[in-house]
Amino acid sequence: MFVAKVSTEGPDTGKWYMMAMEGKIATRRAGYCAGICNGHSTQAEAMEHFLQYQLDREVDLWLSRRGERACEICGEPTTLRARLGRKTELVVLCQKHQSTSSLQQLARSSMLALSVSET
Ligand SMILES: [Zn+2]
Ligand SMILES: [Zn+2]
Repeated sequence: MFVAKVSTEGPDTGKWYMMAMEGKIATRRAGYCAGICNGHSTQAEAMEHFLQYQLDREVDLWLSRRGERACEICGEPTTLRARLGRKTELVVLCQKHQSTSSLQQLARSSMLALSVSET
């Protein structure tokens, strides 16, 4: 799993990076934060950077599954699913909402929920 962590030592102290976790230990920087990235001043920025990576590289659309479920955006029943990231849960999106921008919208709102619950 991936978690945004703030560096506590070295020249990056106080900077946020998206980290890959093994158990409770952050093992390495993940996504674009593993590349050319100078760190972020907030957790939300680090998560947004990682989201951008996932949207660019790790999107699956038009996955078909048995059984209709309500589209997470409009509530329309659909057998279609989408996925953002690897080994993540499927997102229910109808034909009209099968797009990276829908995934982006949902990811942003769930990040919002995440940051709200932490304060
Ligand atoms: Zn970054
Ligand atoms: Zn929809």
